[in-house]
Amino acid sequence: MKFESMLLQMKDRMPERRFIHTRGVAETATQLAAKYGEDIEKAEIAGILHDSVKYAEKSWLKEIIISEQMDPMLLNFHHELWHAPVGSYVARQEFNIEDADILNAIQYHTTGRAGMSNLEKIVYIADMIEPSRSFPGVEVLREIANQDLEEGMLSCVQHSMTFLIKKRQPVFSDSFHCYNDLIQKRGKVKE
Ligand code: FE
Ligand code: FE
Repeated sequence: MKFESMLLQMKDRMPERRFIHTRGVAETATQLAAKYGEDIEKAEIAGILHDSVKYAEKSWLKEIIISEQMDPMLLNFHHELWHAPVGSYVARQEFNIEDADILNAIQYHTTGRAGMSNLEKIVYIADMIEPSRSFPGVEVLREIANQDLEEGMLSCVQHSMTFLIKKRQPVFSDSFHCYNDLIQKRGKVKE
């Protein structure tokens, strides 16, 4: 692997099972990028760095969201969402990633958003279907994602939102916008 040192730095920031997940996301994102003609190195970097601050202090994540003037709505939602935008900030600050597509792929890997790039979709999907994921329905998501990137993204965001709604958990607005955007574009293609 080309980005071995970056990956090793992740090892110190997370428990073993999250590190296995991180490696899985980097590998799956790389495979999807190859399949769909996207930049393999960008997919690998985004995969490696996507959960870099998953285990950071909540208070610190909150501080960065405020000081960097990120979407203040984030603070009204579960702190699980915070590691994605702050992870993007850390990728830029600590790992000197300047590429906007990589930074966005990290920023939106948990919620999705309207108008995602292919790289953003690839990282979002890889996060959900990498080999160590084992929830009911993951096999179907893997199959769809390997057949069609748009359908894969739609199925993954649908799965995530349905899961939250079933548990009566709040759904962040970016996910609704993501879902609507995909559905509306899909409708146009089929008309
Ligand atoms: Fe994450
Ligand atoms: Fe993840």
